[in-house]
Amino acid sequence: PSITRGVTVEVPKITWEDIGGLKNLKKKLQQAVEWPLKHSTVFSRLGVSPVRGVLLHGPPGCSKTTLAKAAAHAAQASFFSLSGADLYSMYVGEGEALVRNIFRRARLAAPSIIFFDEADVVATKRGGSSSNSSTVGERLLSTLLTEMDGLEQAKGILVLAATNRPHAIDAALMRPGRFDLVLYVPPPDQEARYEILQVHTRRMQMSDDVNLRQIAEDTELFTGAELEGMCREAGMVALREDISATVVCNRHFQIVLQELKPALSREDIE
Ligand code: ATP
Repeated sequence: PSITRGVTVEVPKITWEDIGGLKNLKKKLQQAVEWPLKHSTVFSRLGVSPVRGVLLHGPPGCSKTTLAKAAAHAAQASFFSLSGADLYSMYVGEGEALVRNIFRRARLAAPSIIFFDEADVVATKRGGSSSNSSTVGERLLSTLLTEMDGLEQAKGILVLAATNRPHAIDAALMRPGRFDLVLYVPPPDQEARYEILQVHTRRMQMSDDVNLRQIAEDTELFTGAELEGMCREAGMVALREDISATVVCNRHFQIVLQELKPALSREDIE
């Protein structure tokens, strides 16, 4: 993978199977992202214009980034990523130049997915904030909109944006031909937590007393990121206990569970 300032270009290795739960969401992304990138000629022959942008929203740590990467992998698309917060903190003009640069490179490397994380930082509703900060955001936003409008149909480039604050997103981004599809990425329910635990213990040697179904039941409100961290930490507890340990046991998971509290609360769930 080549790396330019804040940008990596590669086809990600993450697959749909690396993501627990979210069956319907994966199906929607396959149709909206994977199909048009893989079969762009079919779309143009049929005269169906694919969506150009998808907005993923939901609490942190629930796999928005991972979904975007899996979609890119499935479509064998180059993956470019931009962070709203990074763009915002750049010198005047630098952020806009980077946005234009990414779109140019994405066109050259098509099929491509441009992942725009923390979109709300740049694409905040206009007005309301202090004059200086709104101009920085506005210039970035208008550059982004110009680039999105410039994406001709079926050219094999799609923008996936992510935010934790969908209500803060400027309405201009939601016009037809921009972010036509808005998908909520929820925190995992019990079944999804079970699948996430399976994903993150795939390569772990575990004793028979580990009951992932029970752990899934005991981890209400935990995000995918927290469950991943919990599995790693259980392994660390086993190693701290005995550096030559060969398996991770239920008690190691229980020790970690006792110390963990989910960051989300019931009110965070839409
Ligand atoms: P943020 O809003 O903080 O950027 P995000 O929604 O983009 O978060 P990710 O970065 O995709 O979340 O997920 C964080 C980590 O949690 C990843 O390393 C991923 O492996 C793990 N994870 C989250 N959800 C799942 C899931 N459904 N299945 C498997 N792993 C998950």
